[in-house]
Amino acid sequence: MPQSDAPIKAAIFDIGATLVTGPPVAPNKVIASIIKGATAAEIASIIMTTELESASHACKALEARFGDMDAQACSEVFDLWHSQRTAPKELEGATDTVIALKDRGLKIGLLSDIWNPYYAGVERALPRVIECADVIILSCRTGFRKPNHANFLRTLEELDLRPEETVMIGDTYTHDILPALELGMKAVWVLARPDREAEHIIQILNGQSPAPTATVASISEILSLDLWAACKGSMV
Ligand SMILES: [Mg+2]
Repeated sequence: MPQSDAPIKAAIFDIGATLVTGPPVAPNKVIASIIKGATAAEIASIIMTTELESASHACKALEARFGDMDAQACSEVFDLWHSQRTAPKELEGATDTVIALKDRGLKIGLLSDIWNPYYAGVERALPRVIECADVIILSCRTGFRKPNHANFLRTLEELDLRPEETVMIGDTYTHDILPALELGMKAVWVLARPDREAEHIIQILNGQSPAPTATVASISEILSLDLWAACKGSMV
């Protein structure tokens, strides 16, 4: 691609398992265990793409799709909602990495599939990251989820940058890396959970899927990538 050496002007971060961790079980799976007959995928398609203002709003949205919930089920959704608000924990080096890139003159984007209570927890866990972000695009606000290109395109539009001027940084090949590469963005794979990504690692090694621009084991290794040399030259 002729523009692949374009100066990098923005770093766009996934949030879950890239900047924060926890809890071990995803909320859609917890709710699927509460509502009989509902799959985790069906639950995710509701809670991740709806702006939910409260636990009771979440229950109403779930009831609209799956029918009335009894008091016990509602109580468990309430408990989950409140636990999600304190669940995210910063991965070591996440804030320092984002701030360092901001200090180098890059714009910062956040691009996440997330539901409202967990994002409230992220605001609590990563206040400086949220504060320095130029663009924050969340599935619960837009109604679109990765790997759909819609939120990637919206992020680029709000940053007012071309794809090749940006780097997507995330932990999930199918949701963070592949769509970014398809759009002509650079992509750094934070391979924090290689066991979950084994299928894609094999496909890349066999030449069946495109390789990321770079791969690191954790967010704290991002700053040492050669990738940022191109942005330093553009800052003078
Ligand atoms: Mg993630």
